[in-house]
Amino acid sequence: MNLRGVGVSPGIGHGPSYVLTVSVPEPPEGATYTGEAEQEKERAMVALTQVAGELESRGNRAGGEAEDILKAQALMVEDPGLVVKVRSLIDRGLAAPRAVFEAFTKYRDVLAGSGGYLGERAADLGDLRDRVIAVLNGQDIPGLPAAPAEPYVLVARDLAPADTALLSRDDVAAFVTEEGGPTSHTAIMARSMGVPAVVACPGATGIAPGVRVMVDGTSGEVRVEPAESDVADAVGAATARQAALASWTGPGVTADGHSVPLLANVGGPAELEAAVAAGAEGIGLYRSEFLFLGRSEPPSAEEQRHAYRAAQAAFPGGTVVVRTLDGGADKPLAFLPMPAEENPALGERGLRRFARFPEVMDVQLDALASCEGVRVMAPMVATAEEAAWFARECAEKGLTDVGVMIEIPSAALRAADLLDRVDFVSIGTNDLSQYAFAADRGLGAMSALQDPWQPALLDLVATTALAAARAGKPCGVCGEASADPALACVLTGLGVSSLSMAHSALAAVRAGLAAHTMEQCEAAADAARTGSSAADARARARVHLPGLDRLGL
Ligand code: PEP
Ligand code: MG
Repeated sequence: MNLRGVGVSPGIGHGPSYVLTVSVPEPPEGATYTGEAEQEKERAMVALTQVAGELESRGNRAGGEAEDILKAQALMVEDPGLVVKVRSLIDRGLAAPRAVFEAFTKYRDVLAGSGGYLGERAADLGDLRDRVIAVLNGQDIPGLPAAPAEPYVLVARDLAPADTALLSRDDVAAFVTEEGGPTSHTAIMARSMGVPAVVACPGATGIAPGVRVMVDGTSGEVRVEPAESDVADAVGAATARQAALASWTGPGVTADGHSVPLLANVGGPAELEAAVAAGAEGIGLYRSEFLFLGRSEPPSAEEQRHAYRAAQAAFPGGTVVVRTLDGGADKPLAFLPMPAEENPALGERGLRRFARFPEVMDVQLDALASCEGVRVMAPMVATAEEAAWFARECAEKGLTDVGVMIEIPSAALRAADLLDRVDFVSIGTNDLSQYAFAADRGLGAMSALQDPWQPALLDLVATTALAAARAGKPCGVCGEASADPALACVLTGLGVSSLSMAHSALAAVRAGLAAHTMEQCEAAADAARTGSSAADARARARVHLPGLDRLGL
């Protein structure tokens, strides 16, 4: 049997399946309690506190990005709005498990309707609800196998951070989920663990427990009970490819010596070591909002300074580009109250939101200004006026190397005007696709429109790169597009001057570039733009990039 989903973390993983089915039965409708309302409310509060406490302590043990996510979930469990709702349902006579069920389910449905990052958090709420009900019922939540005899393929409808945070890459060969998009927790965790993963894979939980499964995290293919010889071939090809890629080291450069610095995207101090180990030449995108997510107060100037200096220390003399706080829409921040908006992705987010909270902005710009040599850029800039405003605010703090992200089509189309106001631009292809194609980046069902090979997206990149070349200023790409070795060659051919990506993609991109001349990259870029679809653009470009096949890329 073959299944297919979206590959979100590359590599081949195989092993016996472990199908995670957490089944907490729905408490009967209208279930009531005997005894006092106050006692029943107390019982509910104790269960909520227990689950929040467990999440908090798992977070402390896991560290890194998982810690932020789990702590944000702990806050979610004790969300004052939810607590009030649970208490009032108990006052109306419902037993604690049913009150929790109704309050959490309602909140989950509201989140699911809002799409994007919030929509994906809806699955978390379902998981949190079941954990609280399980505590109230005295039921154990089935755990994952400890110290398995061999690494297993973890299959689930969806995986919550509470499930994956403490997993070791020694135990898990791959992840497969039915739900989740490319920005789901499963995808983020799998990439940062370096474990192959496929999400949005219909039928995955129908896989029988214990049967052997092979997962291709690049193509999205999931094979159930594959022939042993097929597993050996796929693993052999992947190992040979890894070995070939590892032989390319050093800075990013084309075969004819055209330099293309290869930088890392990071979300916090915990990711610096892996970026250095993968040979990144610096940081092209420090997503500073990850320092702020899941916190009730913004980090102090001192804490932020410490984080940015650690990044500079990891790359002495290298580029470090810190993006100012990109909050709102898919990255809600507890301490910046969200306005009620129908379409948060089109609302007050990114720079717009930053500008509304000058006290938060002041602290961040002060912290950045105290890190000599750091480069600063603003997210979600739509117009030249916004770019000019940001540049002025930075100049007042003494920041001299200031850029903006190009992730809204208006900014790409008028990149020349923006570049009159700032020192560099960096293209965020994730949001640029979302806004160019009116396709929510978090929705698995929209993934074809999110394909960065779409010729219209390449046109927007070309327009921006040309404007930067004319202005004599740098133009990087820091969206997921950089992580595709073929597309990295195309972006180079379009005139992009640096590429920033997840550390796990650096080796393949480095090798792909080194195998081609600038002339080949330019021919591939021209050919891709004549494509009639994403698949056609990819096929046309690859004709000019023969080295990719030799590298198995
Ligand atoms: C992007 O939009 O391409 C980008 C790099 O920013 P983020 O993914 O953090 O929104
Ligand atoms: Mg973005």
